[in-house]
Amino acid sequence: MGEFDLIKRYFDCPELRAGPVMSIGIGDDCAMLDIPQGCQLAVSSDTLVAGTHFFADMQAHQIAQRSLAASVSDLAAMGATPGWFNLCLTLPEANPQWLAGFSQGLACQAHACGISLAGGDTTRGPLSISIHAMGWAPADAALSRSGAKTGDAILVSGSLGDSAAGLRLVQANRQAQGYLVERYWQPTPRLALGQWLRQKATACVDVSDGLAQDLGHILKASVCGADLQLNQLPLSSALLAQVSQAQAQDYAVSGGEDFELCFTLPQHHVASALAYAQDSALPITKIGSIGGELGCRIWHSDGTEYQPQCGYQHF
Ligand code: ADP
Ligand code: MG
Repeated sequence: MGEFDLIKRYFDCPELRAGPVMSIGIGDDCAMLDIPQGCQLAVSSDTLVAGTHFFADMQAHQIAQRSLAASVSDLAAMGATPGWFNLCLTLPEANPQWLAGFSQGLACQAHACGISLAGGDTTRGPLSISIHAMGWAPADAALSRSGAKTGDAILVSGSLGDSAAGLRLVQANRQAQGYLVERYWQPTPRLALGQWLRQKATACVDVSDGLAQDLGHILKASVCGADLQLNQLPLSSALLAQVSQAQAQDYAVSGGEDFELCFTLPQHHVASALAYAQDSALPITKIGSIGGELGCRIWHSDGTEYQPQCGYQHF
């Protein structure tokens, strides 16, 4: 199978066009994409390397789902509407079974996110997947990391720590199944919430490297401090059934890849965010507030300070 047959068979297919139509998609030198008038283009890239971000012996459809979700989560964090993505794939060999699984997993996640594959690149080498997600938001309405203000509430969607626990289960047993493992393999980018937060949240980030580290980005960009209550962090019952409460809290603070949104809201928007959570069946929890000295402090319920472990860093 040559390079162009491979692209045609596994990537130039209607299942992967689950988002807005394209004037020109796969097959030309560039894709040509139309964003709605008055909107800005949102672009984000993510590279996943076998051995660093996932085990090469994991199932292709899982690798694909997770790769696309991680990229699209960045669009969610900006409040952007998903549009298209490019896929740069480096493969050790053209294995039809692996490619079919990868294409299926990609289509499944593309459908869930409403995004279309617009193009990419295919080369031979050690397995690596690079995805460039594109979307749009009305001009100057995108969420950023830099607007948090003293007195804002800090909230987080869903539950934290599940993915870190799921990863441990997968490390021990590649065939592991269940809620925590699914949270690792099939994270859900919080797209609708991100768009709802436009013009409401003062800052937003997706939790990819651990709550403490990602909230730290907001605090740095906004030049402010935060106080969090450890016992208010949302923990799933599946996580608490798997590990001790202390371990679950460590995962919630420092384990990455939950791809939930952490955002700051002026107090007058908090009630409507909690009502939105009820309507959308996506829990939203207030975990602390912005204020005090620079940096992030996390408090035990007895008033002593919790010391977080480090979030994930490549270097
Ligand atoms: P060029 O040489 O002009 O850069 P290529 O021959 O590399 O183009 O690719 C041909 C077409 O196939 C382009 O439209 C490109 O975007 C698309 N393409 C290549 N690899 C992939 C891939 N892995 N997934 C989706 N589209 C791809
Ligand atoms: Mg060309």
